[in-house]
Parts: sequence; C-alpha cells; structure tokens
Amino acid sequence: MSLLVVGSLALDSVETPFDKIDDALGGSATYISLAASYFSAPVNLVGVVGSDFPKTYIEMLVEHNIDLEGLQIIEGEKTFRWGGKYHYDLNIRDTLFTELNAFQNFNPIIPENFKKSRYVCLGNIDPNLQMRVLDQVSDPQFVVCDTMNLWINIMKQDLLKLIKRVNVFILNDSEARLLTEEPNLIKAAKLIREMGPEILIIKKGEHGALLFTNDTIFSAPAYPMEMIFDPTGAGDSFAGGFIGYLNQTRDLSPENIKRAVIYGSTMASFCVEKFSTKGIEQLSYLQIQDRFREFKKISSFNESD
Ligand code: AMP
Repeated sequence: MSLLVVGSLALDSVETPFDKIDDALGGSATYISLAASYFSAPVNLVGVVGSDFPKTYIEMLVEHNIDLEGLQIIEGEKTFRWGGKYHYDLNIRDTLFTELNAFQNFNPIIPENFKKSRYVCLGNIDPNLQMRVLDQVSDPQFVVCDTMNLWINIMKQDLLKLIKRVNVFILNDSEARLLTEEPNLIKAAKLIREMGPEILIIKKGEHGALLFTNDTIFSAPAYPMEMIFDPTGAGDSFAGGFIGYLNQTRDLSPENIKRAVIYGSTMASFCVEKFSTKGIEQLSYLQIQDRFREFKKISSFNESD
C-alpha cells in the first residue's frame, strides 16, 4: 500500500510581511511526503539533494516513516534552493531566485521495490523528470501530477505530453489560465480535462479548491484562518493529504474523492500556520480529524428548516 512521491527537496528562503527565514526545509516532495505520511506508511520518496542538506532534516523525514532509499545525495553538490517573497495579499508571491544545483544533472532512479507502487504523486519538478519517473513504475494505477507556472512557460509541450498519462492534474487558478489562455476557470477546466486527466483540481489559495470530474464540480472551502504565517507548500501539502488519503482507503468513488479534497485542504491549512514544514511536522490523528470535521460545519446547510 506504499505511495511513491517524486519532487524537489529544497532549502527555501522565504519572506512574508511578518518574518523572514533562510535555508528552511522546503521542496514539493518534502511537503507532499510529510502530509501524506499521516495517512500512508511508508511513503517512498525519490529526489536529490546536495551534501549540504542538513542531517536533522533527513532524520525528521525518517521519523515520519518516509523511505529515503530513492533519495540521491550528491557529494560536493549543493541542494536545490528557492527564494520567494509574499505580498500583503498572501495569494501573491514573487519567485526571487531558483538555483537548480543538484537538480541540474538529476537522473531519477527508482529503487526496485518502489517500482511496483500503484499510487504515484508527481510533485512539481521539470515535467521531463516527472515523465522519467512514471516510465519506471511497472503498473501505475492512480497518478496525481502537480506543476507550476515556470514549466508551463518554458516546457509546455513536455507538460502536455505528461498530463495525457495522469489521472489527476493539480494546478492553481492562474496556472490554469496560463495553460489554456482562457480567463474563465470553468471553461479552462473543460479544456484541461480534454488534454487528458479525467480529474482536475484547481487550487484557489485562500479561497479553496475546485474539483472537476466527468459530471461534477465540487467546491471545497479553505479553512477560515485569522493568521497565515507562510503559504509556502500549501499546494504540495494539499496534494499530499489528497493522495495520502486515497492511497490509504483505495476507494476512488466520487464521494471518497471529495473527502480526499477536504483532507488535502485540511493538511494545507495546517501547513500555512507555521513557517516552512513546521506546521505539518507534529500533528496528531485527532487534530486532523477535528479540522476535517470543521470543514463540514463551515460548508453544509439545510435546504429548509
Ligand atoms: P507551493 O507553495 O506548494 O507552490 O510549493 C513551494 C515549494 O516548491 C517550495 O518549498 C520550493 O522549494 C518548491 N519549488 C519552487 N520552485 C520550484 C521548481 N522550479 N521546481 C521544484 N520545486 C520548486
């Protein structure tokens, strides 16, 4: 029942209106694996770091039952670094720098016992690397793929090839508009689903997420929060909660997919409460369940009294 996750492991420098942090743990695969680890164990991680990647981060991932056999540590190389700055409107983020470092020559090699994974999460990295990972999995049954504006801008054709092979494609509202050149999200969603993925999730930052399937649109709220410290990784934590829950339950019915969206939103809400990965490092089953139920409270109503 193990889950395969590929993506970046990073040292992030993040500036928000409230604080600033350097070389904090980040990366798409890091957030996805941590969020998924509360539902599925072990999480099989594939990625690369340099020899400067702190041992304490490795230990923390291992404590969460994340199997690092597929993690390449390149001697003498530096870890991928990303810098971002948030505006007062925390939905707006500028990328200050992206240093590929160890990712420059990364060739993902999937360990033998990871190849049989049925559930796969392709976290945000170069779509060619995501494709190389997928090519090595012997019989993938449920593939979730995330991306970002960078790859839509510079590798659109590769990304379009990849999404033909995935079941669920996750992106945010501005990325959906960028990919389709269509300003209306409902029309954009239709166009993206015609490109391949039967399930599409469009994240809308602090306004929740939209799930599009064959015959339904499901609108999930975001958890109303008075204090958001650092939105970094919210999208990845969403993806981790979503696929972690589906991998645990192995139920792809429409209702369970909706529940998975709410578990994704739950993990994203914990993520943004603290800097870096701190918000999803020490959660209990009870805390996750309580917040999951809160989502029901804030979005259900009676048709009449
Ligand atoms: P999110 O806030 O969910 O979009 O994800 C933020 C994480 O994505 C940060 O921890 C970054 O290290 C990572 N990231 C940013 N740019 C890239 C990129 N080009 N490739 C892979 N990961 C990235």
